[in-house]
Amino acid sequence: MAGFDMHTHSTCSDGATTVEENVRRAVALGLEGLAITDHDTTDGFADAMNAADGTELELVLGTEFSAEHDGVSVHVLGYWIDPAYGPLRAELDRLRDERTDRARRIVERFRGLGIAVSFDRVRELAGEAPIGRPHIAQAVVELGAAASVREVFDRYLADGGPAYVEKHAVDPVRAVELLVAAGGVAVLAHPGLYGRRDGAEGVPDELVAAMADAGLAGVEADHPDHSAEHTRRYRDLAASLRLEVTAGSDHHGEGDLDRLGVATTPREVVERLRRWRRA
Ligand code: AMP
Ligand code: FE
Ligand code: FE
Ligand code: ZN
Repeated sequence: MAGFDMHTHSTCSDGATTVEENVRRAVALGLEGLAITDHDTTDGFADAMNAADGTELELVLGTEFSAEHDGVSVHVLGYWIDPAYGPLRAELDRLRDERTDRARRIVERFRGLGIAVSFDRVRELAGEAPIGRPHIAQAVVELGAAASVREVFDRYLADGGPAYVEKHAVDPVRAVELLVAAGGVAVLAHPGLYGRRDGAEGVPDELVAAMADAGLAGVEADHPDHSAEHTRRYRDLAASLRLEVTAGSDHHGEGDLDRLGVATTPREVVERLRRWRRA
């Protein structure tokens, strides 16, 4: 299978498969490359490199950085970042702490809704990873209060839902600046999923333009959860802002999110992104 899957998650954040497993599966699929993009962490890098050692698979080490605009999540992929860069480390540490506090507040919201989720169980499900909403959703499913993680999101946890709590993450423009300062290449993840996913309005064009001014290199217009209309809209926007168009599966390893390799970026685009870094 040609191309690079430029967006994947593992147990280092809210995915169900380990980075080693993702690497093995990418090799089995014959992918040319695999990006490691766990939410707000670089913890998977060493394991990924060990797993890919001796294979043909090219790794693109990165993160999916949490930003927020008007209280709504905006995700920025940062590729080839230096994990030791101080200001980035500081922000990732801050986000991890913030995620823990926020998880406690979400658990309280659920309790207020009559769903007795335990924070300790959520912590346990997350393991070493920064706690994300999917960990909490999993704990809710375990209680039998919903049939699936998706149902928990649809009923309670989607942006703006009754159990939703904001992260106080950085502004998207600042996120781009930080990733670029860390030696990375910033790409706006799934812009069509901005807002509630049902009928999401998409990241505003003006915000994408402001991010482009700050050094954004590309837009993930091709995403399995994008409507055809979102894909077309963000392809056009990327072209007008002279940004690259990327594709990634956003694999999380479970249910319909178990989808490594279903969306890939051609090598020539990956090479242009790599050069963007030095430009
Ligand atoms: P968090 O980083 O804690 O805000 O959680 C965001 C993560 O939750 C995303 O990366 C997805 O894995 C998942 N997610 C967000 N919104 C939805 C949704 N509407 N349905 C299913 N999963 C979602
Ligand atoms: Fe996620
Ligand atoms: Fe995302
Ligand atoms: Zn993702």
